[in-house]
Amino acid sequence: MKLHCNVEIYDRTLSLRRKSQRSILAYVKVKDGDVCIHFWTRMNKQGTKYKIKNNIRKVFEKFNFEGKATISLIEPCHDLIIQSNPIQLKSFLNILKNVTDGYCRDIERYILKSNTTFSSSEFYSLKKVVVKKKSEYPILQGFPRMTEQLFLSGLDRKSFDRQILTLQSLRLLDLSNNKISFLPKELGTLPHLQTLNLSHNNLGKSVKSKWTWLEQAALRSNLYFLDIRDNLLTELPVQIGQLKALRELKICNNMLTQLPQSIGTLNKLKLLNVANNNLLLLPGMIQHLQLSSVDISGNSFLQNSYDITFNKNTLDIILPSLVELSARHLLKSRITYDASIIPYTLVRYLDEAKYCFSCKNACFDFYSRLLSDFRPYEFSITMKSTLSQPVKYEFYFCSKQCYKLYVSLFYNFLDM
Ligand SMILES: [Zn+2]
Repeated sequence: MKLHCNVEIYDRTLSLRRKSQRSILAYVKVKDGDVCIHFWTRMNKQGTKYKIKNNIRKVFEKFNFEGKATISLIEPCHDLIIQSNPIQLKSFLNILKNVTDGYCRDIERYILKSNTTFSSSEFYSLKKVVVKKKSEYPILQGFPRMTEQLFLSGLDRKSFDRQILTLQSLRLLDLSNNKISFLPKELGTLPHLQTLNLSHNNLGKSVKSKWTWLEQAALRSNLYFLDIRDNLLTELPVQIGQLKALRELKICNNMLTQLPQSIGTLNKLKLLNVANNNLLLLPGMIQHLQLSSVDISGNSFLQNSYDITFNKNTLDIILPSLVELSARHLLKSRITYDASIIPYTLVRYLDEAKYCFSCKNACFDFYSRLLSDFRPYEFSITMKSTLSQPVKYEFYFCSKQCYKLYVSLFYNFLDM
């Protein structure tokens, strides 16, 4: 067998880590009949052989279910840090165990000729897969396991194909122009998924609980492009605010009336397209983002003049609850959380935080709220808008002091 994988080599004598490379690992027999691990990369097509007999220091396979393992060799002092498809990796390690245990009866079935070489295309050809017609869909043979970019646009699919979940190297997934209304939770666990195009589907038909794929830790830290245009959405899930790597968010041509407050905390966001929805307000916090492009055209923002609406919990008389104080502290400390660590109700409570416009900290039930078209920080944004009236923003303040800061900013602005 040959294992298509990414291998990073750690040289223990030099404490040197060589960059992860697209590689092929296989077993070969050398002259004396011993079995070796043969390691090829695109730059090293002849490959390097590593002896197995009395030469395996340790195999770290605790995370092989995630497609990760390390083979630590005695000579040379190298650790091969491997990332691959979990099933293939498991088979590869099983063979290694048999060889080190001296159990080699069927080994001929698994070894390659020692002079095997691979062309460059072997290292790249499986990365991008485009299915253009329904008739070309690989229903039986499946997608190549090392697929990194998968384009399944315009195939009229009504359901998500679960074989996508086995593609552990997937970085880009294009499911646009289908009729998909449900995505499984496991989509969010793909370890490298960065670009996700779901435009022109039926996700708005999905009930709230089915956005659990957005709650998974891998997606939260890796996804930088999300396109959910034209999906009949009436509400944007609050979990979007936890996609901390997000740089581009396209949610135009839906039926949204508001955006989650947490969208204003996506500090890496550069492009936001919310055109052609039914938005009444924008979260004030988005004024703090360093956006290079915003499209808000085709919305019907509230048009009344300055309108102060305080929450009932007036900041003068009530102290925040202990739950609120601890939740504020947790978000301020940037501690990561998900439903595997804390109860799901707390995850939702944290996800639904409002953010103070003045100090940018979270607040929950204890705040004051203000609707205004004042935009002190917005001037750097190239905003595309077809509106003749100013946009209405929704501001939150976590304390009296923070509210006063905003008011002083406002009066300073009027004096200018
Ligand atoms: Zn504050």
